[in-house]
Amino acid sequence: MQRFAAAVVLAIALGGFRAGAAAPAADLAAAPDVPELGSIEAIAAATTESRFLSPWVAYVPEHPSVPSPSDYLGHIAGAPGELTGTARIYGYFRALGAASPRVQVETIGRSEEGREILLVVLADEAAQADLGSFREATAQLADPRRCGADCFARLLPRARPIYYLNGGLHSSETGSPEMLMELAYRLAVSERPEIRAIRERLIVLINPVSEPDGRDRTVEWFYRHLKGKADHDHLPETSPPYWGKYVFHDNNRDGHQRELALTRAIQDSFLRWHPQVVHDLHESIPLLLVWTGTGPYNVQMDPILVGEWHQMAFQEVRELSALGMPGVWTWGFGEGWGHMFQDSVAVNHNAIGRGYETFGITSAETMDVRLDLRTEEYVERPVTRREWYRPWPPPRRFRWSLRNNTNYMQTGVLSILRYASLHADDLLRDFYLKGKRAVERGAAEAPYAFAIPEDQRDRGRLAAMINLLRAHGIEVSRARQAFEVAGASGAAPSSGPGEPGAAPSSGPGEPGAAPSSGPGEPGAAPSSGPGEPGAAQPGGPARAFPAGTFVVRLDQPYRGYAIDLLEPQRYPADETPYKPYDDVSWALPVHFGVESLRVDDPGVRAVPLDPVEAEVRYAGRVEGEGPVFLLADTGQEALLAARQRLAGFQVEAAEEPYAHGGAEYPAGSWILPAKRGLGEALRPLAEELGLELRSAAEPPAVRRHALDLPRLAVLATWSDTQAAGWVRLYLDRAGIPYTYIVDDAVKKGGLNDRFDVILYPHTYRTLSGIVQGIDPRQGPLAYTRTPKFPSHGTPSSSPDITGGLGYRGLANLQDFALRGGVLVTLGGASALPLEGGFVRNVRRAETEELFTPGVELRARFARPDHPLAYGYPETISVLREDLPPYETREADLGWVVLRWGLEPQRYYDEKTPQDGPWAEAAGEVIDAEKATLPEPPAAAGEPEDSLVVSGGMKGSEEIEGKPAILDVPIGKGRVVAFNFDPIHRLMTRSDFRLVWNLILNWNDLPPPGGTSPRRDGT
Ligand SMILES: [Zn+2]
Repeated sequence: MQRFAAAVVLAIALGGFRAGAAAPAADLAAAPDVPELGSIEAIAAATTESRFLSPWVAYVPEHPSVPSPSDYLGHIAGAPGELTGTARIYGYFRALGAASPRVQVETIGRSEEGREILLVVLADEAAQADLGSFREATAQLADPRRCGADCFARLLPRARPIYYLNGGLHSSETGSPEMLMELAYRLAVSERPEIRAIRERLIVLINPVSEPDGRDRTVEWFYRHLKGKADHDHLPETSPPYWGKYVFHDNNRDGHQRELALTRAIQDSFLRWHPQVVHDLHESIPLLLVWTGTGPYNVQMDPILVGEWHQMAFQEVRELSALGMPGVWTWGFGEGWGHMFQDSVAVNHNAIGRGYETFGITSAETMDVRLDLRTEEYVERPVTRREWYRPWPPPRRFRWSLRNNTNYMQTGVLSILRYASLHADDLLRDFYLKGKRAVERGAAEAPYAFAIPEDQRDRGRLAAMINLLRAHGIEVSRARQAFEVAGASGAAPSSGPGEPGAAPSSGPGEPGAAPSSGPGEPGAAPSSGPGEPGAAQPGGPARAFPAGTFVVRLDQPYRGYAIDLLEPQRYPADETPYKPYDDVSWALPVHFGVESLRVDDPGVRAVPLDPVEAEVRYAGRVEGEGPVFLLADTGQEALLAARQRLAGFQVEAAEEPYAHGGAEYPAGSWILPAKRGLGEALRPLAEELGLELRSAAEPPAVRRHALDLPRLAVLATWSDTQAAGWVRLYLDRAGIPYTYIVDDAVKKGGLNDRFDVILYPHTYRTLSGIVQGIDPRQGPLAYTRTPKFPSHGTPSSSPDITGGLGYRGLANLQDFALRGGVLVTLGGASALPLEGGFVRNVRRAETEELFTPGVELRARFARPDHPLAYGYPETISVLREDLPPYETREADLGWVVLRWGLEPQRYYDEKTPQDGPWAEAAGEVIDAEKATLPEPPAAAGEPEDSLVVSGGMKGSEEIEGKPAILDVPIGKGRVVAFNFDPIHRLMTRSDFRLVWNLILNWNDLPPPGGTSPRRDGT
């Protein structure tokens, strides 16, 4: 190590570069910085190999009055064995801001636990003195309607690109908050010419700890359980069981729905600053991967972005290779189709969203690493293999330190900031051009608008959708008068009134409309790409819309995002060699159950409109004085909250449709019998929750049952708390009481004494993973609140989080159902009852092709009279992630409440062996699946390929007709198993009511359906 340190000293004396490193010519100018005393030695000592360090970050510059990280923390950033909590990191940035005129800090939000979310602004003194005018410049460039050619020419030399960095998002990726302290200091004080250029030509924004709640938990976890341990293959669980109060790794999957404070902070600051680049700093892949994705890219992206992605990524590949750092690569990770991540706010708003995956080991200890090439494999190739996109692969074995991570990430960021300072005009011009072309395309080609009628099954979700569009910066207006257009089509709601969902207006792969201007013409808007559903459709049926209809005109800068959010996705699953990274469907009308119509008639541009400038909210009301009140169930999401608020009153659900006072009431509609104080209780509730109630003299004569609120538990395991977190977030916000339980409470037993319904939300764990949990050989691992670890112990606490549910936990859950409890399992959690032996005669179905990567699929109620169907039409659609399907016997088809697709139900042949290897049975299973029940013929006009509503999939024939929801009586109770997650990231709002229906009707679930005699599952 000593020889290495000496070499660095020599290199800096020679102008900042090690002998032998191929240095870009511009950097051969003398480095005017004086290294901080001891910084060269400390950095060299913390770096495990000289090739894991660049000359740019091999020293920290000395400054007489501005505190360096060492001055503040007592050690260099990335020092071995040290991690810094949020308060100290913010303390450092505030000290930096107080001492340097080149640094300011502002608060951009508060986490769910109340921690501040900070934004650091870095630029030279000239910019700091007038940040408002720089913000105004990028705001004007963001909207070419405000800024024509003259304005652009005037602004270009004065505006500065804004480069935004998000650190500390995924809490176990611990390096970036440390690195960003040194980066900020370096940018503030270094006098190297390339850093001065960054300061003088750019504004750099740093969000050092995007997820502050998780940062503190993780730092405390390190000091509690990881410090001093350096055997990489046998570390204890490296992450605490929670990051945010609610959500774990999904804190980077909230881009469209904005349910989390950190998303709102990042997105709102984006719309305040209009940065040209948003760059997320993640850690997972050796040694530094720059996101570009394999494609298919999102069809709404301007082609300019594809060039920017690759040009910038290869800048880092080239420059870090030139600096002698191996293992920097791009392309073969992710796909670029879905943009629901934090950097996506840039992709979706004409800027550049990008990200790093720097190699990280969570721990701040230094350790030997041997890559496991079964997991370190991307696009089916080991990460150590040389490829065109990975010209210098990482080594298989190496020693890694937190400082190595700091070196790679910081050198990469400096490299790209240098690039941005050299290409400032291009960045600003491309940003402007993307907005300009969006406006032009919206005026020149279909679709011209989306029309969203006010008359919806749940106006609460309509308001939520409109408000969400506006929060994304998409302009929404309302028609001042009634209008009629031809060619309104497309995005029907996923749970439309009896409709199986309209077909897309044009098929995937259709080349679309002619280009609006010829190739070669600079600045011309590109034509619709292949696979885009946005090709113009002449004609189409005329449709009339009343005054007040919401209209999203598409001659606006964020046209692409508006279309992406309002049109169903058409993911080309069959043409794509690699699996998508995440969900392939997110269209809001589909997932919110709101009808939205694509308008291809240019006449819509003549409709007089008023911009929506405030939150949309529908106040409900109560008509008449009672004494009985009626509420038509049309699928309102608010019914669970409403029932809770009416806890002191009787609420009954009609078991069949009825008519009263000239109005129709579907099955599930509420009847509120007369009681003193009812009217007074209803009025504010109806107003607030947007519910419409009518009076009746007496209850209608209809079969009905009382809706009793259960004692509800929400279950998670210590090894996967995430999906339960999304459920908790909803229930907390809606004011629904529940008890949150983890493994410990289940293992203790006595569940029937405490709960009526146990809801086990989705999990990524397999059955054995649920049983085994976190490896107890590394235990005990305490997660309790103590004075030393104050962020631990919430929202659940245990002296030892290892060990899983175990067989005792499974037995207690089975016992709970046998003794009369209702066990509800969502998505992957259904492996527990279905594969854990709670239920007989349900088995995992064999599949070869089936692939449903977060795609909205049609489903039909096999039992439309079941209370689960209340508020829904017979055919609905729900989001399905890639989970195994299950199947049952013909005799037990009565357990199936909802099935996939529109085809008749399918079942397996009872003669197929239950216990033998599946391979032996496969042939028979396939034959047996041809067996079907007689079904009414499909309604006229139903599309041939009836399964996909939004997204794309493979192997539809392997799932059609199989159960989507099973309601299986066992003992005195029930298992209700979903083959999808209806509360997926709070995105799938039209699916929520399926779960609410269960909670509200838990003790009125009917016997199995009529296709089989009632029988017990055990
Ligand atoms: Zn990450």
